Amino acid sequence: MTAVDTAVREAGSDFIRDIVAADLASGKHTGVVTRFPPEPNGYLHIGHAKAICINFGIAQEFGGRCHLRFDDTNPTKEEQEYIDAIEADVRWLGFDWGKHLYHASDYFEQLYQWAEHLIRKGLAYVDDQSQDELRKTRGTLTEPGKNSPFRDRSIEENLDLFRRMRAGEFPNGARVLRAKIDMTSGNINLRDPTLYRILNATHPRTGNAWHIYPSYDFAHGQSDAIEHITHSLCTLEFEDHRPLYEWFLDNLPVPSRPRQYESARLNITYTVLSKRVLTRLVSDGHVTGWDDPRMPTLAGLRRRGVPPEAIRDFVKRVGVAKSNSIVDIAMFDFAVREVLNKTALRRMAVLRPLKVVIENYPEGQSEELDAVNHPDNPDAGSRRIKFGRELYIEQDDFMENPPKKFFRLSPGAEVRLRYAYFITCKEVVKNAAGEVTELRCSYDPATRGGNAPDGRKVKATIHWVSAANSVAAEVRLYNQLFSKPDPDAGNFAADLNPNSLEVLPDARVEPALAAGNPSEAVQFERQGYFCRDRDCAPGKLVFNRTVGLRDTWAKVNK
Ligand code: ATP
Ligand code: MG
Repeated sequence: MTAVDTAVREAGSDFIRDIVAADLASGKHTGVVTRFPPEPNGYLHIGHAKAICINFGIAQEFGGRCHLRFDDTNPTKEEQEYIDAIEADVRWLGFDWGKHLYHASDYFEQLYQWAEHLIRKGLAYVDDQSQDELRKTRGTLTEPGKNSPFRDRSIEENLDLFRRMRAGEFPNGARVLRAKIDMTSGNINLRDPTLYRILNATHPRTGNAWHIYPSYDFAHGQSDAIEHITHSLCTLEFEDHRPLYEWFLDNLPVPSRPRQYESARLNITYTVLSKRVLTRLVSDGHVTGWDDPRMPTLAGLRRRGVPPEAIRDFVKRVGVAKSNSIVDIAMFDFAVREVLNKTALRRMAVLRPLKVVIENYPEGQSEELDAVNHPDNPDAGSRRIKFGRELYIEQDDFMENPPKKFFRLSPGAEVRLRYAYFITCKEVVKNAAGEVTELRCSYDPATRGGNAPDGRKVKATIHWVSAANSVAAEVRLYNQLFSKPDPDAGNFAADLNPNSLEVLPDARVEPALAAGNPSEAVQFERQGYFCRDRDCAPGKLVFNRTVGLRDTWAKVNK
């Protein structure tokens, strides 16, 4: 087997990888060159991660290269902040473009020359109609468009006007340059599409050099050709643009002939992956920023503690399909748990503390117990945890009047404290409002380490921390940002989940959670996977829940 065969086997195959393999086998291409072409008008989200993994992944598997190209043709919406964030996010996801960083704006002069080339061939014209007229004469899916009264301008007049457009003689929107193709085409994209529009705006890279900017369609395929992209991979909504993509390649002296292939977008339940909506979520203050852990952005997922490996695994599981579908968010959570289960060290944290006093444990005394750091990985070692007379357990782990199948703590019941002793609840202390504030318990010294010498069994093991030897923390529990599986992007505010963030200000965590590597993921036993948030400060610990241990969301919704 060749190296390529091995790589293909490991990566799995799909229709695009099959095409690439066939093109290499037939000698159509001697190497593969792909690109990831984001528009720097927002942060990358998990849908982009799919495109990144496909483009960089295929290049890697077939020994080729993948370019990062900023599709920066719309200076009114693009910002340096986004450019920096995109580069950081692609790297974080585990990919590297090496020296192949490009910008559509690098090609503005070449694109301009090609526009003049089309004018000289009689294949482009300057149209003076207003935006409104352009829209009205474009026709619909069932009706053909109408020819512009400016369609038959002479080549000289077109060249003159186009040069004056470039020179900045006209206000925004006064004219456009259009391709002369076919106003009656069944494909609206071929009805004399706009190639250049007048936009007197400062561009982050070219400054005030340009008063006209190319359209996405006019820039995209030619940029691919300039970079000798072999396989131009995009999402299905560009299928109808392919004839135009090819029309430009056919009619311009481009240095190479890339081929466009379309595959399904990533859609996920309870999630919106529209940059327009994500921008609004940030600007309208529905979230704290682009990196709010509830956001499907790579910055948000990173802050929530999702490892990049889990995103790559998820994309691999989703696969590359020829028709659109919606992936269950549970599949994403599964991929995250798969990775974290292997790597996260186990710790004890009590999110909603209830005080327990062990009445037969001597005051002022304490002892250390052994707790393993990872049940499946002995190399992770163990740590010592302190046990004493006063502890905290989870409020949920006690019920005064338990139903039949509740095996955790209740008056008279005995449970095991993880790594420690059996305890029995003797008395319930309440405040004036009738709320349980404290449990008076006894422990059995013979059960140290968690087993009774007389062989008696308990049905539940619960986690705990020592009152004196734990640290205060704020814990942030994140739920789906949207309460509907298919949020309405047009009216997204109505579908926001009012309980997407629950802040627990009074959690108590074992001291190992305050020490240790701040960027490492941890498992709070019986709760889920957590990471430290960047809001941590000296004396202030903040944890984000990355994902729960099980799919509680699905259950709640049933
Ligand atoms: P817009 O063009 O509306 O600003 P976009 O999501 O298409 O938004 P781009 O920056 O143009 O943003 O996207 C860069 C690349 O990522 C494109 O090739 C696009 O096809 C791909 N991409 C974007 N969203 C998804 C998605 N949900 N699934 C798969 N690929 C996606
Ligand atoms: Mg786009």
